[in-house]
Amino acid sequence: MTAVHVPGTPVIEDGRLVSTSPATGAEAGRLPVATAEDVGRAVDRARGAGEWWAALGFDGRRERLLRWRGLLARRIEEIAELVHAEGGKPVADAVVEVVTAVEHVDWAARNARRVLGPRRVRSRLVLAEFSAHLEYQPYGVVGVIGPWNYPVFTPIGSAAYALAAGNAVVLKPSEYTPVVGQWLVDTFAEVVPEQPVFTAVHGLGDVGAALCRSGADKVAFTGSSATARKVMAACAESLTPVLLEAGGKDAMIVDSDADLDAAAEACVWGALTNAGQTCIGIERVYAVEPVFDAFVGKVVERAGRLTVGPDDADIGPITMPSQLDVIRRHIDDALSRGGRAVLGGADAVQPPYVRPTVLVDVPEDSAAVREETFGPTLTINRVRDADEAVDRANALSYGLGGSVFGRRRAVAIARRLRSGMASVNSALTFAGMSTLPFGGVGDSGFGRIHGEDGLREFSRAKAVTRRRARSLLPSTTFERTPADVARLVKAIKVMYGR
Ligand code: NAD
Repeated sequence: MTAVHVPGTPVIEDGRLVSTSPATGAEAGRLPVATAEDVGRAVDRARGAGEWWAALGFDGRRERLLRWRGLLARRIEEIAELVHAEGGKPVADAVVEVVTAVEHVDWAARNARRVLGPRRVRSRLVLAEFSAHLEYQPYGVVGVIGPWNYPVFTPIGSAAYALAAGNAVVLKPSEYTPVVGQWLVDTFAEVVPEQPVFTAVHGLGDVGAALCRSGADKVAFTGSSATARKVMAACAESLTPVLLEAGGKDAMIVDSDADLDAAAEACVWGALTNAGQTCIGIERVYAVEPVFDAFVGKVVERAGRLTVGPDDADIGPITMPSQLDVIRRHIDDALSRGGRAVLGGADAVQPPYVRPTVLVDVPEDSAAVREETFGPTLTINRVRDADEAVDRANALSYGLGGSVFGRRRAVAIARRLRSGMASVNSALTFAGMSTLPFGGVGDSGFGRIHGEDGLREFSRAKAVTRRRARSLLPSTTFERTPADVARLVKAIKVMYGR
């Protein structure tokens, strides 16, 4: 049977997932859809491969991961073109995405031993006769479920750290970008041909659900908050630990002493890169009254210059056709409730594209302010001062990233944002900083990828004590005497009774 193709919407034809460009409808590739049994078999195979991979040790894994990093860097044009062809993202944005991913592979590979390797830990006076040892061991098999908006960066943000920690990984890429996901595992297999250490299973949401129930030892999910809840519920059945990287509605705060040109430049990029389809994209701005008008003018001037369309344009198509309705609804809701469009507006949605839209004075309870829009739109609201900006920024249940522009108070404001990350005098920077953890609070999820926390996220702490001397105050033995217990009581009073 041949299905009708809506450009960009995945269809299943003869057991194959057919992926098409949202801009042109051209087929990007087709991949076999996995059944629940296939997913179980993939996890079983990965378990054996994971034992082999773990046994390579930190040095063996580092060497192989750095080879993969080298391949990704050398073939950056190829993968960027594929990201463009499948998801519609402008090639330049795809290049930036891959660069960031390469950086994470490099850091994870180089730092896994230092962060996770065996080490002596100091013991204390109580139990001083024992030495203490700590190491972080891999879970075994990590299931990674990915979204389409950053089809290289998001899976690698989990997979590179999980692999460096010694796990095998089974990836379920988004049904909107399966070809990119397959490219990642195929190129990994080029540098690690011995065992299926990093593999993919393809299909719609039910395949992700099957991965949650497959016996994988941990599931790392990146996607919407609604699906995150389903993933957690499915994983709860088997007490499978989860990492949830979910949606966001990130705010930028522009304080009175901000460099307004720099703020406008970062705002336009942070809000509109990848057509606004960025989990940590700037969707709301709170600018203090004295700088509000000047800031809005600079944003409109810059955003108005951007080109929209296929190929070389600044802003490409909306990847997921169904999102166009959400974007249209948010714009309409903002305008019907007193907001004003100072750029774009009611007719901005021209499928599969959306023209940059800047909305000002939008009621705080409107959908455009409260819900994730995931389009090249932005609300800018005026606030009395930075305190009011922080209150409004923190008013939502999302809490992923954020940005602050200013001088004197900027870092203090950034620390007060209820979010996992913040950039001061830039936007989205934390995502590319491989030494820093990445993750959200509240509806944006929990757990951390990237950095030392990201490596520990994919490993279990293993604690070992070892006797090194006879106990002077034996207490954890039935051989103890009443005198030993009395000496223990005396010792604890001397040590801690002050
Ligand atoms: P989505 O939740 O629709 O899908 C994500 C993945 O989950 C897909 O692979 C999908 O097939 C799978 N899935 C669907 N139903 C499932 C189920 N019941 N069980 C298991 N897996 C299931 O999200 P999306 O539209 O692909 O991605 C966009 C969302 O991702 C946005 O909300 C965005 O903010 C978020 N996101 C978050 C981050 C982050 O790091 N926090 C990064 C990128 C994107």
